[in-house]
Amino acid sequence: MKINSSDFRVKPDEKVDLKKRATEVKPFYHSKSDYKKMLAAHVKELSELQSLLYADGSHSLLLIFQAMDAAGKDGAIKHVMSGVNPQGCRVRGFKQPSAEELKHDFLWRTNRCLPERGQIGIFNRSYYEDVLVVRVHPELLKSQGLPADLINEKTIWKERYRSIADMEAHLSRNGTRVIKFFLHLSKEEQKKRFLARIDEPDKNWKFSKGDVAERKFWPKYMKAYEACLGETSSKESPWYVVPADDKKNARLIISDVILKALRSLKMEYPETTDERREELMRIRSEL
Ligand code: AMP
Ligand code: MG
Repeated sequence: MKINSSDFRVKPDEKVDLKKRATEVKPFYHSKSDYKKMLAAHVKELSELQSLLYADGSHSLLLIFQAMDAAGKDGAIKHVMSGVNPQGCRVRGFKQPSAEELKHDFLWRTNRCLPERGQIGIFNRSYYEDVLVVRVHPELLKSQGLPADLINEKTIWKERYRSIADMEAHLSRNGTRVIKFFLHLSKEEQKKRFLARIDEPDKNWKFSKGDVAERKFWPKYMKAYEACLGETSSKESPWYVVPADDKKNARLIISDVILKALRSLKMEYPETTDERREELMRIRSEL
C-alpha cells in the first residue's frame, strides 16, 4: 500500500497540537507477512541508496529520533537500518550530559558526532533534549553552567530554537540533510509497554524507575514538544510526527521518509574514464 508519509510532516512555523496528531493510523500493511515484505523492500532499497551515498561521497544524512520512553526509537533504528553497511552508518545515543559536555554550549557534544560526507548518522536523542527534558525540568537548566544573566526562562527557549534552526540550515547548505522523527506514542500505550517490561522477564532490563517518574510530566513534555516542533521544522530539515502506537506501521513510515529523502539527493557513482579503464586493463594483464 502507498505510504503517504508527507502527511506526518510538520510545516514550518506550524502551531502543532499533538492531541490532533494521531498516535495510530490505519496500517499501511495488510498482515504481518505483508509488513515483513514491505519492510524488506524498504531495507533493500535503503541499502542500495546508502552504497550510492557512500560512493558519491558528497552528501550526508542525519536522522534524529526523539520520543517519550518506550515509544520504539531503538527498535525502529534497529529494524530500519538493519540492511545498511555498518561502515557507512553510525548510531549515537545521547543521555544525561557528562561534566565535560556541560562545560560547552549545548550543541557541542552532538556537533562532534555529525556524519561525514557519504555517511548516515543517527542520533538516538539529540540536542533537542536541551529544549525538551531541560525545559520540563528547569533545575537542569540551572545546572548547565551558563552565566546567570543568560538564564532567562522567558527568552531562552526561543533562543535555543533559533540556534538549532540556524545550525540545521547551515548543515543543509553544506550538504547534510537533517530529518527529525518524533515518535508519537499515546500515554495508554506507554503504560502497556511499561507493564510488559515489568511482567516479561526478558524485558525487565529495559525498565527503569526513572521512566515512571518522567511519565508524571507527560503534559509538560507534550507542551515542550509542541512548542519546539513548529519552530524547528523547515523545508530542508523537517520534523515528522510519526504515529507510534503501532511499531510496525511506524517503521514503515520512517523507512519511507528516509527513502524519499535519499532518492531526492543528486548522487552518482564515480565514472570510470577511458584512461582509467585502459590503466585497469594494463594492470589486469599483469596479474
Ligand atoms: P534513555 O534514552 O531512556 O536511556 O535515557 C536517557 C535519558 O537522558 C533521558 O531521560 C533523557 O531525557 C536524558 N537526557 C538526554 N539528554 C539530556 C540533556 N541534555 N540534559 C538532561 N538529560 C538528558
Ligand atoms: Mg529511558
